[in-house]
Amino acid sequence: MINKIVVVGAGQAGVQAAQTLRQKGYEGELVMLGNELQPPYQRPPLSKKFLSGDVEPDALFIRPEAFYETNNIDLKLNAHVDSIDLTKKNLTLASGAELNWDKLVLATGTRARALPLPGADLEGVISLRSIGDVQLIKKLFVPGKKLVVIGGGYIGLEVTAVAKGMGLDVVVLEAQERLLKRVVSPHVSSFFHELHAGKGAELYCGTGVTSIEGANGRVAAVKLADGSEISCDLVLSAVGAVPNAELAGAAGLDVDDGVLVDGAGQTSHEDVYACGDCVRFFSERYGRSIRLESVQNAIDQAKAVASALTDPDQDHSHDYDPLPWFWSDQHHIKLQIAGLSDGYDEAVLVGDTSSDSFYVAYLEKGKLIAVDSINHPRSHMMARRVIGQKWEEGLLPPA
Ligand SMILES: Cc1cc2nc3c(=O)[nH]c(=O)nc-3n(C[C@H](O)[C@H](O)[C@H](O)COP(=O)(O)OP(=O)(O)OC[C@H]3O[C@@H](n4cnc5c(N)ncnc54)[C@H](O)[C@@H]3O)c2cc1C
Repeated sequence: MINKIVVVGAGQAGVQAAQTLRQKGYEGELVMLGNELQPPYQRPPLSKKFLSGDVEPDALFIRPEAFYETNNIDLKLNAHVDSIDLTKKNLTLASGAELNWDKLVLATGTRARALPLPGADLEGVISLRSIGDVQLIKKLFVPGKKLVVIGGGYIGLEVTAVAKGMGLDVVVLEAQERLLKRVVSPHVSSFFHELHAGKGAELYCGTGVTSIEGANGRVAAVKLADGSEISCDLVLSAVGAVPNAELAGAAGLDVDDGVLVDGAGQTSHEDVYACGDCVRFFSERYGRSIRLESVQNAIDQAKAVASALTDPDQDHSHDYDPLPWFWSDQHHIKLQIAGLSDGYDEAVLVGDTSSDSFYVAYLEKGKLIAVDSINHPRSHMMARRVIGQKWEEGLLPPA
């Protein structure tokens, strides 16, 4: 009999875990602890429509405030969990308060990776992960200012698009030889390169940054590996995220670039589960361990955790092995990704990259493993249905 479940982290995964626990009939005490000040909110709009001013903060909230009361979820904000004691089955908040639990769900997400460069602490060097970050950035994004974006991944490029729309000069510096290299094929990388260049951003790939130079404590320039400098007013650090897994590690749970869980979301301790960005798990689908940073994963893994907790008589250890999917909005383009393409041996371009609507199917030994769709939602939805089976030629939708 479970009397008390505590969820640590009030983000996409934490809220979904709490909601599904109630939907599946869990009637015991349910506490959710989040260390931010705002009610749980969605992050994807932060680098898109919230930054551009097209949506208000209220539209970001995952559920209306009344949801927590109606579902008897004791949501505590500004409540940072400092430590967990697995033997006593309790935890300690930064305030010193202690809380016991029968089952614990860790949904602590990720944080922006720190820029490992001299000058990274100068005023004007920013990163984007929270509502507070965006509120600060909005004040700094003044037309005519020059922004250097370090990192040509999703967040760097989404911010580039919005910043150009707001009238800033933008320079993107990517250390790899092409944009989005970790996640898309060369076709898609060059499409986005041309998209941003066509909108007036300057983009340099294969370009390492050695330091950020300041004047009077404020950022003034970025120094490149070849010794040249780019003067600027602002620097966005967009070099990825790291899992908030230290809390779990310090408690004695198995951690390796994420909290390690099985297909039920169960950690190395039978009463502790974890879900969302902070988690790494072995995927039988991909034959390796993966850590995903996506809304799909946060929601679906949280549902798997809640199912396992409310149905303890079944073996759920192989339940969660998703087909990952993701999206990114840049200028007028929606990129949708179904599946993980790394390891592909053939990329089939369907359509014309100059048309703003095409897709790339990735095959490994003849089997479809992923599809990147550019303004082509039909291929995305179809890919999500058929991946895992052999992609028959007749199933390919026209470009
Ligand atoms: C700018 C941006 C744009 C994105 N765009 C997309 C997109 O287009 N599509 C997509 O699929 N995904 C996108 N993502 C990723 C997506 O938002 C995440 O995958 C999702 O939010 C993960 O949910 P989560 O609950 O695991 O983590 P989070 O949403 O990060 O929530 C974790 C919460 O736990 C809190 N916490 C951490 N440690 C503690 C502690 N010790 N005590 C108490 N609370 C704690 C954190 O402060 C945070 O509030 C984007 C992310 C960002 C930052």
